[in-house]
Amino acid sequence: MRAISQPLIDHRGPKFATLLREVLKGLRDVFQTTKGHVVLYPGSGTGAWEATIVNTLSPGDQVLGCVNGHFSALFCQTARAHGIEVDMIEVPYGVGIPADRVEERLHADKNHKIKAVLVVHNETSTGVTSNVAAIRHGMDRAKHPALLLVDAVSSLGSIDFRFDEWRVDVALTGPQKGLMLPPGMAILAVSEKALQASGSAQCPRSFWDWAPVLERNSRGEFPYTPATALIFGLKESLSMLAEEGLPNVFWRHARLAEACRRAVRAMGLELLAKNHQEHSSTLTAVCMPDGFDSDAFVAHAQKSLDLSLGIGLGQVKGKVFRVGHLGSLNELELLGSLAGVEMALRSFGIAVPIGAGLAAAESYLLETPAHVAGP
Ligand code: PLP
Repeated sequence: MRAISQPLIDHRGPKFATLLREVLKGLRDVFQTTKGHVVLYPGSGTGAWEATIVNTLSPGDQVLGCVNGHFSALFCQTARAHGIEVDMIEVPYGVGIPADRVEERLHADKNHKIKAVLVVHNETSTGVTSNVAAIRHGMDRAKHPALLLVDAVSSLGSIDFRFDEWRVDVALTGPQKGLMLPPGMAILAVSEKALQASGSAQCPRSFWDWAPVLERNSRGEFPYTPATALIFGLKESLSMLAEEGLPNVFWRHARLAEACRRAVRAMGLELLAKNHQEHSSTLTAVCMPDGFDSDAFVAHAQKSLDLSLGIGLGQVKGKVFRVGHLGSLNELELLGSLAGVEMALRSFGIAVPIGAGLAAAESYLLETPAHVAGP
């Protein structure tokens, strides 16, 4: 926040060009790519969906949309809005995308009509992380040339995401989650293959056209007025991630997430995410006990304790509440939130044992090391 509140600089001047080069390099490190191109727009994650679709596809194209929650459904909806035919693999809320089903569908598509596979790495509505590496292997086994388009909005910068290794074609995110910034940007990493696809993609595009952005960025500027203050902040947040080291960042989130899940279970509540290996490191969706509405509970927590929890979205509206543990977060902040959850549940009329969740989280945190690398 302090970095953002500096006086602005001329976005066509030399200082800005140096700043832009630094943040583009830092973002490539966080996407874990040396080959990908980073594109920055003013916008949000929703804009990043649109940028991904309009730059790579044409109306009438067929894509394979992998849906396991609210945000993956909306990603597909963005494609449909541009005249793209979305063939879906749909699984219940609470589970990840099965790579073998992606492989099966692509294998059956002998004429390669499917132009892209759309996946959300971390479903923010359910607290489930899908295995993008396995999906890539499935695509390889099917020997299918479709583009791999991945929403990394609630994973990048908090959960291991490997753009080059998984051969992702477009990864998209926003600044307000793992990058720890206020909202206001759409951020893409783009492969050479996706750049080539954009040469023949026919979706109408103007603001979201990445060609002028890439061209002007290579000269240290933008084709329009960029979100300069956010770019100051981005430089700082990228330095913070680099100082901590990505392996430590990923471990910090994995560890805090496990502490949160243990707390939830000790409160006698159930997780929405079904499979241990798919549990999200950035948020936990908790099933509301029968007879209680989670929207009303979230409003109660806000009103009684000024505690912000996530509501249930899409098919689980009213049925789950979500605890966010992504981006800038430490042990005590998590424990404070968990204490708030216990108090709010009790005052809402749910008989959770006071302190049980906190004790489970504290014990786990005491038993596990805080760092994986460095001092
Ligand atoms: N994708 C995912 C996985 C999200 O969690 C969100 C928002 O939370 C979005 C896309 C949309 O991003 P935004 O709200 O920045 O438009």
